Order: sequence, then C-alpha cells, then structure tokens
Amino acid sequence: MMSRKYRVGILGATGTVGQRFIQLLEDHPQFEVTALAASDRSQGKAYAEACDWRLAGEMPSRVRNLLVEPPRPPLSCDLVFSSLPSDAAREAEDAFARNGYPVISNSSAYRMEEDVPLLIPEINHEHLSLLDHQRTTRAFERGFIVTNPNCSTIMLALALAPLHARFGVESVVATTMQALSGAGYPGVASLDITDNVLPFIESEEEKIETETLKILGRLEDNKIMSAPFKMSAQCNRVNVSDGHMAAVRVSMKRKTEISEVREALSSFRSLPQEVCLHSAPEQPIIVRDERNRPQPRLDRDAGKGMSVTIGRIAHDKVMDYRFVALSHNTIRGAAGAAILNAELLIHNGSLSFMA
Ligand code: NAP
Repeated sequence: MMSRKYRVGILGATGTVGQRFIQLLEDHPQFEVTALAASDRSQGKAYAEACDWRLAGEMPSRVRNLLVEPPRPPLSCDLVFSSLPSDAAREAEDAFARNGYPVISNSSAYRMEEDVPLLIPEINHEHLSLLDHQRTTRAFERGFIVTNPNCSTIMLALALAPLHARFGVESVVATTMQALSGAGYPGVASLDITDNVLPFIESEEEKIETETLKILGRLEDNKIMSAPFKMSAQCNRVNVSDGHMAAVRVSMKRKTEISEVREALSSFRSLPQEVCLHSAPEQPIIVRDERNRPQPRLDRDAGKGMSVTIGRIAHDKVMDYRFVALSHNTIRGAAGAAILNAELLIHNGSLSFMA
C-alpha cells in the first residue's frame, strides 16, 4: 500500500469536467493534483490565468500557480484523469498509456474498444480483468486505459443493473432531458435554449444504446458479450444548468410487483459500498415516493452528486414498468465517476506497481 498520495495529472483541466475534477480532488485522501494540461490556448499560463473558474466556491489555492502544459507525456504525475474532447483524447490517452501512465478517462475515444473496460464500479468491476489483455494487445508495459461511460449512460445503467440482475431486462425505452453543462463550455448558445428544448444531441443516442449493453454485458475469455436486450434512447437538451433526467420504460422477463421493483432499486449496494471507497455513495440509488420527484434542482446533489435518484415508479400500459431517473452529470456522470474508478483501481491492486 502506498503511504504517499498518488500524484495526478488532469488533461482538459480548464473545462467543465476538468474544473469538477479539481474541485472533487481538493481534499481527497488518496490523490493530489500535481499536473494540469489543456489546449494551446491555455498552455504556458498559470492555471488561475488560463481558467475561468465557473464552479461555486473558490478555485483551490494549490492549483492556482500550476503551469498548464500540453496534454502529452511526460507530466509530473503518477496517473492521469482525462477530460479531453474525443478527437484530442484519442492521441493523448494512447501516448500516456504507452509511456507508462494509467489513464482514467471520461472521454468517448476508447469506450467501445474491445479491450478497454467501460467501468461503473457498482456494476462491472470484474471487467477490470481486461487490463492484462489490453497491455498485451497494445504492447503497453505499465500503462493502461480505463474509461467511464457517457453521463446519461451511467445513470441509466445504474438504474437498470439491479432490475436486470433480478428480473431480466427485455427492452428499454429512455427519453432524456439533459442539462446544459453536459455540452461543456460555452456549450449551447443562450438564444438557442432560452424558451426552448433542443431534440438533438450529437451521437448521444448511439452512445447510450451501445454503452449500456457493454456495461451490463458478461466477460467471457477476454471478450465482453453485450447484454442481450433492446435499448432505445431519444435525447433532448433542456434549460437546466446541472442534472440529467430520463423518463424510462422497461419490459422484464419476470413480471413482478411494483413493490419488488422499488425494493430492488433502493436496496442496491455493491463492492464500492462494501469496501467503503472514498467517493462511493452510501446508496447508489435513492428512491423517492413523492409524486413530483426527482427534480434537477432538488435531487442532483444527492449522495454528494454520486447517487442516482429514481421516482415515479409505476406500471406502464405499453411496457411493464416506468420511472424517472436523475443524476448529476458532471459528478456521477463524469469527474466523480472517474475518481471512483481510480479508487477501485487502488483497491484491486491495479496501481500497486507504483508503490
Ligand atoms: P469543455 O468544457 O469544452 O472542456 C474541454 C477541455 O479540453 C478544456 O480544458 C480545453 O482546453 C481542452 N481541449 C479542447 N481541445 C483541446 C485540444 N485539441 N488539445 C488539448 N486540449 C483541448 O468540455 P467538457 O464538458 O469538460 O468535456 C470534456 C470531455 O468529457 C468530453 O470528451 C466530453 O464528452 C466528456 N464528458 C463531459 C460531460 C459533461 O457533463 N460535461 C460528461 C461526461 C463526459 P482549453 O480551455 O485550453 O480550450
């Protein structure tokens, strides 16, 4: 076990997710931020000068004077968290892994590659065993790439996992209402979203439909066999700052009572809770029974932004059951998810080669 903290670099440190990483890591017991990287617009400047801090509270003082560097190795850190746009991530993440750095990524560049774990620690921690295979196939010596899913996928996969395990999901229809911060900064123009809803988010529906099935899939001989159910997603951008919501309808193999569905969701716990990972919420899923919950403003910070809140659980006349899910897109949906992945990597010994 390492006695000092792991030194982390953040790629995309000035962006929406990058700032959330810095905020969540400020007092983290296992990690300290020692390197920051962003685009050439920011490189060579002190972080305080390069970054227009947009989160509540002050920019943490220890990062203010760190120099923003290019997102390529070497950086003065043991591992990197990546929140780069996908095209920049493709080259940078491979370069860091090839140079011996564990890469814990938010971006979509490698999520669907066969040898890359698409990880939600509560659901598929066993998919981490793909890392040995990844090192062999990509000739990485010590480095590797682990990814977390798209922000809406994480919420949906967490909601579906206990239902799939207990009753067998047959088909899912999800309609999302996604917050503005999900588009990064400056994101959607104010004149496009004021008094409006936008019924298109580039590549989002495809990501939800494919990533969810990989996460809930089974690992067999170094291959993930996607979960065998049908998933349909429609995505909308709505005028909310943080917190993605989804109206979900599900058909299941074993028909059951609503009370059993509710119980399966609210009692869901897994390895991160059992071994008390630092960022793991006590309850991954919080069920609310009020008829007007969940709501982004009221529920996005549940479990310090790491819990999914589910309400409106009911029978559905077309499919079997329906509910509404909500989670914080830049915490459980992005930076918090990656940090939880890193905590799992420490727990399972994947970072012990640095000790
Ligand atoms: P953002 O606010 O636009 O930030 C992008 C960051 O990447 C900035 O630090 C920017 O640096 C840097 N960057 C942009 N182009 C670059 C390049 N060519 N080379 C090096 N650095 C570059 O975006 P974001 O919302 O934080 O999203 C970042 C990633 O996380 C994306 O892949 C996104 O899909 C994923 N993600 C986002 C969310 C969310 O809720 N926002 C959730 C899950 C996943 P400068 O400031 O110097 O331009």
